[in-house]
Amino acid sequence: MVERTFTVTGQLGLHARAAAKVVRVATCFESSLRLERKEGGRSVDAKSILSVLMLAASCGTELRAIAEGPDEEKAIDELGRLFSDGFGESSVVARPAPIERPEVRWKGLGVSEGIAIGRVLRMHNGTKYVYRSRLEAAEIDRELRRFRAALRLARRQLTAVRERAAKDLGQDHAYVFDAHLLLLEDEKLLGDVEKHISQEHANAEWAVRVVGDHLITIYSEIEDNYLRERESDIEDVVQRLLVALSGERRPRRKLSRDAVIVSQDLLPSAVAEMDFDHARAIATDTGGWTSHTAIIARGLGIPAVVGLRDFFRRARTGDQIIVDSLGGDVILHPSPKTLERYLSEVGKRATSRSVETPLEEDGPLRTVDGLEIRMRANVEVPAEFGGVSKYGARGIGLYRSEFLLSRGGVMVSEDDQYAAYAEIAKLAGDDGAIVRLFDVGGENAGDLMAEPERNPALGLRGIRFGLLHKEIMRAQVRAILRAASEGRLDIVLPMVADVGDVRSARAMIEEEESRLEKQGLRHGHVGIGAMIEVPSAVLTADRIASNVDFFELGTNDLVQYTLAVDRSSDHVAAWFRTLHPSVLSSIYQTLNAARQAGIPAIVCGEMASTPAYAVLLVGLGAVDLSMTPASIPKVRRSLAGIDSRDAKAIATECLECATPDEVEHLVRERFQSRWAHIFPLESLPQPRDGM
Ligand code: PEP
Ligand code: MG
Repeated sequence: MVERTFTVTGQLGLHARAAAKVVRVATCFESSLRLERKEGGRSVDAKSILSVLMLAASCGTELRAIAEGPDEEKAIDELGRLFSDGFGESSVVARPAPIERPEVRWKGLGVSEGIAIGRVLRMHNGTKYVYRSRLEAAEIDRELRRFRAALRLARRQLTAVRERAAKDLGQDHAYVFDAHLLLLEDEKLLGDVEKHISQEHANAEWAVRVVGDHLITIYSEIEDNYLRERESDIEDVVQRLLVALSGERRPRRKLSRDAVIVSQDLLPSAVAEMDFDHARAIATDTGGWTSHTAIIARGLGIPAVVGLRDFFRRARTGDQIIVDSLGGDVILHPSPKTLERYLSEVGKRATSRSVETPLEEDGPLRTVDGLEIRMRANVEVPAEFGGVSKYGARGIGLYRSEFLLSRGGVMVSEDDQYAAYAEIAKLAGDDGAIVRLFDVGGENAGDLMAEPERNPALGLRGIRFGLLHKEIMRAQVRAILRAASEGRLDIVLPMVADVGDVRSARAMIEEEESRLEKQGLRHGHVGIGAMIEVPSAVLTADRIASNVDFFELGTNDLVQYTLAVDRSSDHVAAWFRTLHPSVLSSIYQTLNAARQAGIPAIVCGEMASTPAYAVLLVGLGAVDLSMTPASIPKVRRSLAGIDSRDAKAIATECLECATPDEVEHLVRERFQSRWAHIFPLESLPQPRDGM
């Protein structure tokens, strides 16, 4: 056995290309060759690129090399030459000097309050995520073969890329592909993936992602900035494998603590799979106040700016970024002066927040004249669940179940759904939860649509999807009915157009209930409600009301469909007018239909979470609101300070207006004269006056 100590002299440290050279040298010898940090730590196999990379050895690191075998002397000499040579790079490659990039500012629409300073994490449309499926024992061998075949394909592709690079760019550049090839041959990486498939009964895509993410996490913790950024090498390889396995799939990104998610658009299917614990903010090219990105950001309490047009194309992962939702500002590569200003602003806000009075209040909410208003919570992803009890919601008014559909193209099993709904039932407690059947299509298209639709908002959306794909709907209904034995659950049907939709859905639900009964499976009984969010449903609300147990008013879509304005398009954001008289009349008509039929009507669109709008809703007759949990305290404070009779008088006047501008002027004037202490001018809707 021979032992020697080497110092990493290459300016870039032992990064992927250098590590590839080490491995190439080490594998030429029969002897075993191990490396370890001189200050301690595990020794690693110098023939495994992954292990060499994991040494995270930056310039100046001392490594002990141990060779053992017939050609140990020669092996260690060769290795020594490589180290003293700076991996043949010191004269060629200089550590890239940090590039001073000019500050660039972008304007969008701030949809969730706050300022965040962080690093860009680009998410490519966020749709191509890896799904998890559970394999039967008999399927494991086939899956292992599938993985190995994909591996061979990925190697062939990469070898071709490497050869092209060597020819076009020179040998030195080709080394990076060498490193990737070595990763694809790395016993540890491949062994871990195969182990995950066999032990966890996981599909290969999932196993690759889990193992890849694990490595990326380890890599991202490396102290040296330059080396840390090389985590992209591992990710590249992971992605290549995923592509080889299943077409164009991308791995989930493990978010770093200061990640600002930058995307063209974030679809629910992407959002649901994201690890939001560390996300600081969201910035997207498209979107509006009621787009799901905005709803989620508000639910999580992180700042968000949407409608930034082609910002995504301009930002790079790792770029420094500031998101300030107040003015809808996004700043890339902030100058030291800008950075300083924002840092002090963040500090000030943190202090002022910490002295704010606590938000949690309990007990029924009553207006000054004693009208009781029920406040429920809308939830989508587990990160929001904590807010339900924290903000004193009386049950879950809307669970957007389509957020479960995150597994690119693969439906969540009935059992997995059952577990999710049972958790929701438990979370909601005695007040119960309303589970909306998958509202796929439109903004929520995800991967379920066989082919893109020409006009998704008017396409196979909401209940239409379930009525056409009966097996999917039946499985969901069964899961909800089974979970209803664990707590109080109701079902709401998304985007019904008329009584016909309700009858078809009800028949299916009743059939599933009697099937469970016959099978002797534990289940509960559920109420069935209809989302009222398209004009045809409003106009026939009286007839729908006699066929359901409750209404849910989806004001986001109601505005979109009444005004024919795409809710997720920033181009027409100026036409998305919640206070349009036609919208107010629709709400009024729907609430009246519910009252006459003696059924509850819950307003669950974003309108309910905006204090001034909530007052108008009460004025129009609403007594049951459901909103993002974090909005409950501010809506509560506002409603507790008003007299519902005043609200009614103002709402009645609004119904007579001809344009949204007229309504907004009226609201400003009346609210100011009655409740200036509750509604400062800046909290009231701003008329556009013809724009
Ligand atoms: C709505 O349309 O108002 C609603 C509550 O549902 P979503 O925003 O999910 O369409
Ligand atoms: Mg809707």
